[in-house]
Amino acid sequence: MDISDLLGRFGLQDCAAAARSSTAQSPALKDGLVVETPIDGSPIARLAADDADGVAAKIAAAQAAFARWRLVPAPRRGEFVRMLGETLRARKEDLGRLVSIECGKILSEGLGEVQEMIDVCDFAVGLSRQLYGLTMPSERPGHHMREMWHPLGPVAVISAFNFPVAVWSWNAALALVCGNSCLWKPSEKTPLVALAVQALADETAARFGDDAPAGLSQVVIGGREAGERLVDDARVALVSATGSTRMGREVGPRVAARFARSLLELGGNNAGVICPSADLDLALRAVCFSAAGTAGQRCTTLRRLFVHEKIYRDLVPKLKKAYAGLSVGNPLEEGVLVGPLIDQGAYERMHYALDRARSQGGKIAGGERVGDAGYYVRPAIAEMPAHEGIVMEETFAPILYVFRYSRLDEAIAMQNSTAQGLSSCIFTRDVQEAERFLSAGGSDCGIANVNIGPSGAEIGGAFGGEKETGGGRESGADAWKAYMRRQTQTVNYSADLPLAQGVKFDV
Ligand code: NAD
Repeated sequence: MDISDLLGRFGLQDCAAAARSSTAQSPALKDGLVVETPIDGSPIARLAADDADGVAAKIAAAQAAFARWRLVPAPRRGEFVRMLGETLRARKEDLGRLVSIECGKILSEGLGEVQEMIDVCDFAVGLSRQLYGLTMPSERPGHHMREMWHPLGPVAVISAFNFPVAVWSWNAALALVCGNSCLWKPSEKTPLVALAVQALADETAARFGDDAPAGLSQVVIGGREAGERLVDDARVALVSATGSTRMGREVGPRVAARFARSLLELGGNNAGVICPSADLDLALRAVCFSAAGTAGQRCTTLRRLFVHEKIYRDLVPKLKKAYAGLSVGNPLEEGVLVGPLIDQGAYERMHYALDRARSQGGKIAGGERVGDAGYYVRPAIAEMPAHEGIVMEETFAPILYVFRYSRLDEAIAMQNSTAQGLSSCIFTRDVQEAERFLSAGGSDCGIANVNIGPSGAEIGGAFGGEKETGGGRESGADAWKAYMRRQTQTVNYSADLPLAQGVKFDV
């Protein structure tokens, strides 16, 4: 299908037409965005960006929407999210394809990302009847105490290019049932999918009726400056920002300076340990998916692998063989497993990292460019003599650093020695090893898996990581609490006024 037809299905045909136009940019587009598909680097759309006044107007609309939406009963808010999930189910094919075209992940992963949106909508619908607080006994006669969770305010979602729609839904589905309005600033590399989702949210709101106020869900188009406007605006109660640690280092203190809340989901440098007792076939398949899948562009991508010395010589050649057989190419084609890197900058950073790995004595297999349109690469394996230097950094590309270890404690210590703390895994059939890895003295990451790679999380658990990954939690479990304010309430239903702790103050 032609990209214009696909965009037309979301009412975005004008953006595609603007990209085809060979005339100079219209004044409205002067400071706008040109969207290129990483599939071949060609421009597929042009969009106007929101200027300062535009962002301010959207924040005002979000604030007005919040004032109404917070009073709509939570189960009714859940009904809105249920209808949004239904809309997404009906439009999964189109949206999944657009995700693949705009960010370059293979179609199965583009569709999987939309499925993740549907799953989190289902989760949030149930949650809309379970925003439970506590009751607690009061020490004073004729009193009761309880805890209530109230809506928080407009929530800004700033998202990264590599999960261009799922991350919004992890936040928005929860934020909406919690009674908040949402402002979404997608990556400047993937604004089209955001506008497509917004079209589906608008369509859902029209079916839902008057209870859904105008401005309940909005998209802000632009780069870093547009994000900064949301970060600095006192009307935005929570900034949920997903992206690099560099971005989080800027956003966190700015939000804290105005005593608002931030939820940071930042970079990872994820590791896996393969023990001698592991099912090596299973481990090999898991490593290929989590290290080479999505062309190494997941926050949870496996980047460092610790292989026990007893199995190193068996496993690593098999891994290299599997890597050499991975089909790299157009992500829309059946059978392709590795699509392109997002852009030239990503390609250059990959080569910089490989050069450094080589200079540190690493033995590299793969990493070469494939074709000359777009930035396709063969995933690389770097056998490293020491765990230091470049391996301590997140390079957002398919490079797997491999190390030999002899003692599990040593492997866990190396794993935990990076600044990031997102995801981790161990492959073993030995329950003592598995439990050691999961214990308080084991992995220090937000996610720890056994016999599964570090990527591909389900929505039911709270997602996020420690240390320079930012500490935020999104999606399942009790992550919803970040989107609400907690109020402790004490009610005196007696005619007396006893004071707590037995204090006397008679007037
Ligand atoms: P990025 O940091 O370049 O951009 C992310 C978003 O932040 C974009 O929308 C960008 O416009 C915005 N932004 C950048 N600087 C900003 C600032 N000062 N103020 C406000 N907004 C700002 O990241 P990217 O290249 O799009 O994505 C890749 C990175 O994201 C990797 O580091 C990856 O690990 C991380 N990531 C983390 C998670 C997670 O859940 N932990 C998920 C996906 C991606």
